[in-house]
Amino acid sequence: MITDRIRSFLDERRPEGPCLVVDRDVVRRNYDALHHALPDSRIFYAVKANPAPEILSLLAELGSSFDTASVAEVQMAIAAGATPDRISFGNTIKKERDIARAFELGIGLYAVDSFEEVEKVARAAPGARVFCRILTDGEGAEWPLSRKFGCEPSMAVDVLTHAHTLGLKAHGVSFHVGSQQTNPGAWDRALASAAEIFRDCAERGMTLGMVNLGGGFPTRYLKDVPAAEAYGQAIFDSLRAHFGNRIPETIIEPGRGMVGDAGVLKAEVVLVSKKSPTDEIRWVYLDVGKFGGLAETMDEAIRYPIRTERDGTETAPCVLAGPTCDSADVLYEKKPYDLPISLTIGDEVLIECTGAYTTTYASVAFNGFEPLASYVI
Ligand SMILES: *Cc1c(COP(=O)(O)O)cnc(C)c1O
Repeated sequence: MITDRIRSFLDERRPEGPCLVVDRDVVRRNYDALHHALPDSRIFYAVKANPAPEILSLLAELGSSFDTASVAEVQMAIAAGATPDRISFGNTIKKERDIARAFELGIGLYAVDSFEEVEKVARAAPGARVFCRILTDGEGAEWPLSRKFGCEPSMAVDVLTHAHTLGLKAHGVSFHVGSQQTNPGAWDRALASAAEIFRDCAERGMTLGMVNLGGGFPTRYLKDVPAAEAYGQAIFDSLRAHFGNRIPETIIEPGRGMVGDAGVLKAEVVLVSKKSPTDEIRWVYLDVGKFGGLAETMDEAIRYPIRTERDGTETAPCVLAGPTCDSADVLYEKKPYDLPISLTIGDEVLIECTGAYTTTYASVAFNGFEPLASYVI
């Protein structure tokens, strides 16, 4: 959302070139909403969504823990003020020497989804706690996470048993129902599997204690999404249904839902043109595209709200593209985007809900374009 603070920052500072402006008050509101909706779950912010130091330190102050995927992210969370007991190494694909480095830094909680990864953790982080990630189908998610992460639930029991045998603490189960998950009921099936894994492990003498509910909490782009409370209620109902009165400790790992709507990307129209004099559709080229931070427009998956100074005047569909010399740098073409007909070269456009998965997705210098500048206010 374009808050008054973001508006005045842009008006006063007039930053040159495309940039992201993130309003910390919105991040704080999202943290409070998630905390309120899931009061019994610890929040581990998914650092990858936006690792700006000001965001991490705000969340550390608010009491958040952090889900990290690399040693660099671990170090960023520590620099922001998080103690190692508030940091998990949640990537299931880690170099053994990175596990060792994280262990040296005091990290004691690791994700695994295979026997091979368990063996690395057992060697590099002896005695650490591990949770096993299970596959989900990602249905209902606008940015699904496919089969890359997690194992079949039936295999998780053996993975955790292997961990136990090697001296690790088999701590629990994790899953991710897919990013921008619009269905609050999406957690139910995974929680049923998690409860089954808890029972099977108990039969083998291992008491699991934690379910990591992952991320997936949505941002409102162009369409309404259910409120945080709806997710909290649906998840609580599923926990009750599958775990009865023995609900385990739970954690959530929001990324998008924490920072998505806190950011606005200021961009500029570089060119408006047609491919032939009789062409019905205009091409609008911005100074930011897929390589400048809008990578989630891949397959036109995420459709950002776009504001212009000409809003309220007549609109027509256009193809929206970025400025680089790669033909993949088209944002919306299959489903063209309605923008004011009077939109012209030099106009400023504000792309809303760009607080998550933008700055770190920008290329270093493709075609000589700077990575996306970012201001946290
Ligand atoms: C990316 C990621 C998240 C955050 O997902 P969102 O959909 O942005 O909330 C959480 N957990 C893990 C393990 C992730 O990889």
